[in-house]
Amino acid sequence: MREGVNDDRPERKSEERRFVARAASAEINGRRVNEAIERGTESAREAVFVCECGNLGCTETVELTIAEYELVRSSFDRFLVIPGHEIESVEDVVERHDRYLVVAKRDGQAVAMAAVTDDRDGG
Ligand SMILES: [Zn+2]
Repeated sequence: MREGVNDDRPERKSEERRFVARAASAEINGRRVNEAIERGTESAREAVFVCECGNLGCTETVELTIAEYELVRSSFDRFLVIPGHEIESVEDVVERHDRYLVVAKRDGQAVAMAAVTDDRDGG
């Protein structure tokens, strides 16, 4: 457990929510791209998928077999990310592979965000 995550001042909460919402929207956007890639390559053994990390503007890609990507998507809260792109304050790495990681959203992620926003200027 992290320390200092029990700060629930309203302004802190809204800062957290903005961060979480930005990260989530980037991840969902990446997932949409990958779903299109997967649909377009049903007959192919491998395809190039985009990193579904929460970093805005990430354009990293990774080659996975369709079966590998299907395993990532076996649960709705799991995302495919490049090693090093995981955001440990909001998600847990549930699988580590040579070329990619599978991360899962952590319950109470907004609470964990307090630890991260602590060293931001609030801009
Ligand atoms: Zn990324």
